[in-house]
Amino acid sequence: HSKRKFTNDVNQTDTRTIQDNIKSENIKNYLRIFSKEPHLSGSDANKKVAYAIANAWMEAGLEDVHMLPYEVLLSYPDFENPNSVVIRNSDGEEAFRSKGVSPVIIPDEQSGKYAGHQWLAYAGNGTVSAEIVYINHGTADDFENLKLMGVDVKDKIALMRYGHGFRGDKVYKAQQAGAVGAILFSDPWDVAQDGVDSDHVYPKTIWMPNESVQRGSLMHGHGDPLSPYYPSKIELFKGKTIKEAYDDGTLPSIPVLPVSYTTALQLMKRISGLDAPFDWQGSVGGNLTYKLGPGFGNGEKLTINVHSELKTNHKVVGSGFLVCGLIRLRIQNVIGYIRGSKEPDRYVMLGNHFDAWVYGSVDPNSGTAALAEVARAMMQTINETHWRPARTIVFNAWDAEEFGLIGSTEFVEEFVDILQKRAVVYINMDCIQGNSSFQSYRHVETVPTLEHVAIEAAKRVPNPSKEEKSSGRATVYDTWMNVFPDKEVGHPKIRVPGGGSDHAPFLNFAGVPVVNFKYKNYTAYSTYPLYHTMYETPFTNIHLMDTDDLAVHRAIGQYWAELAVMFADKTVLPVNTTNLASVMIKSYLPQLKTSILGMNVSRIDLDSILEQYALLSNSAQDLLKVAIRFQDTRQYHDTNHVRAVNERLISSERCFINPRGVSKHNPSARHVMFSVSDSDAYSNSLFAGIQNAVSMDSYEISPSTSNLREVINQISIVQYSVICVINTLKDAI
Ligand code: GLU
Ligand code: ZN
Ligand code: ZN
Repeated sequence: HSKRKFTNDVNQTDTRTIQDNIKSENIKNYLRIFSKEPHLSGSDANKKVAYAIANAWMEAGLEDVHMLPYEVLLSYPDFENPNSVVIRNSDGEEAFRSKGVSPVIIPDEQSGKYAGHQWLAYAGNGTVSAEIVYINHGTADDFENLKLMGVDVKDKIALMRYGHGFRGDKVYKAQQAGAVGAILFSDPWDVAQDGVDSDHVYPKTIWMPNESVQRGSLMHGHGDPLSPYYPSKIELFKGKTIKEAYDDGTLPSIPVLPVSYTTALQLMKRISGLDAPFDWQGSVGGNLTYKLGPGFGNGEKLTINVHSELKTNHKVVGSGFLVCGLIRLRIQNVIGYIRGSKEPDRYVMLGNHFDAWVYGSVDPNSGTAALAEVARAMMQTINETHWRPARTIVFNAWDAEEFGLIGSTEFVEEFVDILQKRAVVYINMDCIQGNSSFQSYRHVETVPTLEHVAIEAAKRVPNPSKEEKSSGRATVYDTWMNVFPDKEVGHPKIRVPGGGSDHAPFLNFAGVPVVNFKYKNYTAYSTYPLYHTMYETPFTNIHLMDTDDLAVHRAIGQYWAELAVMFADKTVLPVNTTNLASVMIKSYLPQLKTSILGMNVSRIDLDSILEQYALLSNSAQDLLKVAIRFQDTRQYHDTNHVRAVNERLISSERCFINPRGVSKHNPSARHVMFSVSDSDAYSNSLFAGIQNAVSMDSYEISPSTSNLREVINQISIVQYSVICVINTLKDAI
């Protein structure tokens, strides 16, 4: 046998056959099956979807297709009794009452009786009458600024618009500020940018129509709220009570509902008080000026009615709240494999959720359909050629993602030990988010160790856009680079993922590196306009978000397959620790230093913090040297040796998991470098443990010694993780 250098060790599988085998027609068929009916997690319709996925996978030939059930706490509205916003004049007569239901616009949306119901999961139940205040996007800055403008949120109903963060965090902040209720609306400024008349909105365009709302979950945290750290298996005890989940803010206790921009106009035109700042203005009512409140100027009164009920079959023991109407709420993930030919106990995990707020044809079933076709095309390739992946490819369809990443989190909690030992990577695709116009691009989030894989795979996928191809951009990489370049590093911008989809528990709880990708339109708004509406039917995929040949869906499948094969077949795992070390040195540590320097502490205290920072910085330099040596100078002799090398690469990623956690608020956040932000579950938070300690200090005029010690301690914990990687990559102890 020959001795080959690491860096040359790229045994490229011919993936063209798999790519060719991925057919748009099949994706379209899967899409129609998976998004035929509204399929809310816990419903019978969603069980049917789970079985349809299992059937598709079994027909394709995946091995050991099975369900993994959990019993969890979900939340439903009263479908017979819609939520409403009511405005009454001083005589008590109704001046306005919202319908609480979005209308059917085209026949495709007709199959579900309750499809139009407008609601938010885990909202508090009840009726509240109070004055309204407008708080822009409900970010931490917005609440701060409102206070500076002299408007108090206490005992008010908070009106906030979607965008700039996870809706659950807006409501969490509103409740903390003393709000007694909240209303969320989509601003035409974001979702109907060409105007709200019927010529410029759905079904003629991708923009949101009148009377439409974004549904969603308000849970603050991830996974079943009653079983932090542990899986919600049927036979296991659930360690937390509903009361505790309310007390610690995991669940909001105030009533909250989503309203359309049509209903928002009724509120906005009545709100009195100061004009809202320039960048808080939007397009509700065209030229209407948004005001802050509190209250309406004309003596009218606002009431919101929200019907919301928790559902579970958890046994309630002791002092927890009793749950009314206990019914079995079982969710189930679907799992299937292609067993690896050489290393069957090494897992390349691909996943997407299948539960939806309504029909879910974009979110998430654009991904579910693409994944089913990846499975089918891979099995076809196995049957027709000599190829079989060297490592096992695991297909995962997650349930209850929409309620707070519940299916994937429970799975990671159940299998954390096995995953930490055997999982190579988790590759997530939730949904396509852009149409196939030139402005859409492959958007990828991943960790520094895997950036090069995300780039290499993109270079091998043909561009789904005809316009782009005729402009000389042949691959999805070319468009990505054209629309979203990072000039400094000479490749497209790649960020570290935050929360928002099922990759989060893999990275943040288990330390399994992840790739999360989508197709995205190049707009400032964080999602597509029809996100979480009842108008996500196959019509929308085929006519508005993609073209009739589902070219973008197909390119999604092809990219997924390319990534999977790279991780499954490369002899030496494509994990680039050198890049991690240099990104740390060039970007993460300088960012950390900036926030340390912003601390409100004495010179002496600052010096001792900077001393520990300098030691961390030295360790990062050491890591860089060790990683380069590991990559460049090692030669491998036989398969055992390669396996040992790969094992080190896998376990080096786990060094960043602190079993004690990094955030008091989020038990599933355990990654000391990358974590989900406490103030916005969609964003990433770098060095969360250090940052929490740093910002704790800056709020205090004279920091206590314990806070100072905490900052230094947290820096040292990160350093300990870096040392762990160094030790793992080195030859011997
Ligand atoms: N993807 C879901 C949403 O955006 C859940 C995200 C989460 O709970 O963090 O609403
Ligand atoms: Zn989704
Ligand atoms: Zn969603």
